[in-house]
Amino acid sequence: MAAERLDGREVARSVTRELAETLTTLPFKPQLVVVRVGEDPASVAYVRGKDRTATQLGLTSRVEVLGESTTQRELLARVLEISADPEVDGILVQDPLPPPLDIRAVQEAIDPAKDVDGFHPVNVGRLWNGGRALVPCTPAGLIRIMDFYGLEIAGKRVVIVGRSSLVGKPAAVLFLQRDATVTVAHSKTRSLGTLTREADILVAAVGRHALLTREMVKPGAVVLDVGINRVEGKLRGDVHPEVTEVAGYLTPVPGGVGPMTVAMLMQNTVMAASRRRGDGGA
Ligand code: NAP
Repeated sequence: MAAERLDGREVARSVTRELAETLTTLPFKPQLVVVRVGEDPASVAYVRGKDRTATQLGLTSRVEVLGESTTQRELLARVLEISADPEVDGILVQDPLPPPLDIRAVQEAIDPAKDVDGFHPVNVGRLWNGGRALVPCTPAGLIRIMDFYGLEIAGKRVVIVGRSSLVGKPAAVLFLQRDATVTVAHSKTRSLGTLTREADILVAAVGRHALLTREMVKPGAVVLDVGINRVEGKLRGDVHPEVTEVAGYLTPVPGGVGPMTVAMLMQNTVMAASRRRGDGGA
């Protein structure tokens, strides 16, 4: 029997519906600024999607495009300027940047209160300390999917494959905060399949198509496939298609975790605006 499909598009729609309601109660229109440097085709598409969703939701959205030859100093100066603008509630700089630009330094230049990607060290620290952080969008989306479908987290064994600052590490903290027992695996992990087969909730965030095969999945497990891999012109996850025959629940690629990332970005923008402008948090 095929696993139940966890439809990220549907969950994303429910998040944006809620946000649209919240927006009607706010006496201001939150503003999001996305900075893109250069013309990387994937970045162009991602930024367009974020801009379109923000505008449809009723936010003020601005995309600032800087040339491929922008220097680190120029980029930092522009980010500081945007970040200091009182009309701007959320700012993010689309990764990857053209080499040799350094994304870390740029992320650290953003006002933590406007850091809607949740990558500033202040937000990372607050997340680990259980404080009021802006949380990275993709991991936040995973929790939201679990909650939308009423899938229990507390007491469950979670295995996250991938330890990036973007997905794996913040996902580990979020599941831990929800009382799961969490293991994080990576490229040096031994006997990966033995480990993943113990997972009640398995998160794949690697970037290798079909790395997780059906033998590596516990029957009935919840499988959250974060991976985005281009295979013969199509988007595919990190999970082998046959996993649907053993898993209990599975996020498809596309249409699973991806739409949630944009929805949670919108949530972070509305939340950042509400907190900063003194409405106490959305
Ligand atoms: P990343 O920074 O490249 O990290 C990949 C992680 O996978 C690393 O921790 C790496 O281990 C681990 N890894 C690599 N090969 C492995 C193997 N054979 N066995 C076990 N672990 C292995 O990638 P990322 O930014 O976290 O993204 C991961 C995937 O998610 C990508 O496909 C990306 O496109 C996708 N993604 C999707 C969304 C979305 O919205 N759906 C958002 C963000 C990312 P080491 O640390 O040891 O190198």
